[in-house]
Amino acid sequence: MQLSKQDLQASTDRIYDTIVIGGGVGGLSAGIYLQRYLLDTLIIDKGKARSFWMQELHNYLGLPPDTQGRTLLKHGKDHYLSLGGDSLNGYVEEITDKEDFFEVKVKIGRQNSIYQVFRAKYLIAASGIIDNLPFLDDMQNVYEYAGYNLHVCLICDGYEMKNKRVGVFGKNQRSLEVAFSLGWFTPYITLFTQDMFEVSSQFRDRLWEHEYKLVEKPIKQFIGENHQMTGVKMTDGSVIELDAGLISMGSQFHSGYLSGLNLQTQGENLVTDKMCRTSHPRIFAIGDLKLGLNQVVVAASDGAVAATGIWRDIRRERGVKRRSDIESAVLV
Ligand SMILES: Cc1cc2nc3c(=O)[nH]c(=O)nc-3n(C[C@H](O)[C@H](O)[C@H](O)COP(=O)(O)OP(=O)(O)OC[C@H]3O[C@@H](n4cnc5c(N)ncnc54)[C@H](O)[C@@H]3O)c2cc1C
Repeated sequence: MQLSKQDLQASTDRIYDTIVIGGGVGGLSAGIYLQRYLLDTLIIDKGKARSFWMQELHNYLGLPPDTQGRTLLKHGKDHYLSLGGDSLNGYVEEITDKEDFFEVKVKIGRQNSIYQVFRAKYLIAASGIIDNLPFLDDMQNVYEYAGYNLHVCLICDGYEMKNKRVGVFGKNQRSLEVAFSLGWFTPYITLFTQDMFEVSSQFRDRLWEHEYKLVEKPIKQFIGENHQMTGVKMTDGSVIELDAGLISMGSQFHSGYLSGLNLQTQGENLVTDKMCRTSHPRIFAIGDLKLGLNQVVVAASDGAVAATGIWRDIRRERGVKRRSDIESAVLV
């Protein structure tokens, strides 16, 4: 059920089999599998998943290519709740390992917030990442196009940029390297530094060899209409026309609550085994947070894998039910 601030006693009193942190694609998929394995599950989600910003999901088997991320999330959550799983809107701040179970401290409500502690034997970290966007004085101007034809993911949207004039917006020389992979889809590439960093002479030579342009002036604003970016206006008043953009400015990882647990990471990604288990035997990590491809289909698959790993562990520990267990319970 959907839990509310006023109605938490039964949930704080019990020990869930699993708490899933994050109710995006990966978390909801895990929740559906866990409930179908008859395991008690609580999904805690702060909202506005990365998938929520996805305007069109072009590459998911069986779904129309104009499916919005928010539609996917709504169906996923309805499905999960229909299986009897618990769901809470809240922000996980901290996790404490009590050896037999975890304590999960949650801030509930943006205004008049309350703090509650929930407990579970297993955890699934499904809290994802969020993309850094170009920083302009008027950020509303960036939000107008980001996720539409100002893309953040080459794997998701390279196809949409086929043979188009594309601007690549980076935060350093390394992040601009994505232009060379984008070159698979289009040769019409302009790279923007926004006057924030220098590029080396070797890098300039590579751009010249590929016939890519480099613009090192600061950007004033993106231009366009109806969420379709048509170019950028520089602070000196000049305009560069574009058909699409690709932002490559890194991302923030939603993993602060794990900081006390000393889990193995590579860069900021959590390292897991093939069952999505982290270096802690009872903590699993799925989706964008873990090492691997940042794709909806992968996050959904990870959810299934992690839930199955947890079910196997619990099944081995508890054993299967016998007929006599059920019949004697009925007699009591
Ligand atoms: C604009 C855009 C377009 C994309 N297009 C595609 C596409 O076409 N195809 C494709 O396959 N992929 C696409 N992606 C990538 C896809 O959205 C991600 O790979 C996918 O959403 C990852 O799922 P996830 O469950 O790991 O994370 P998310 O879907 O981001 O879910 C994580 C959830 O955890 C919550 N959370 C974070 N921290 C906390 C906390 N401390 N406490 C509680 N909750 C927390 C977040 O609010 C969020 O709801 C796109 C992404 C973007 C941004």
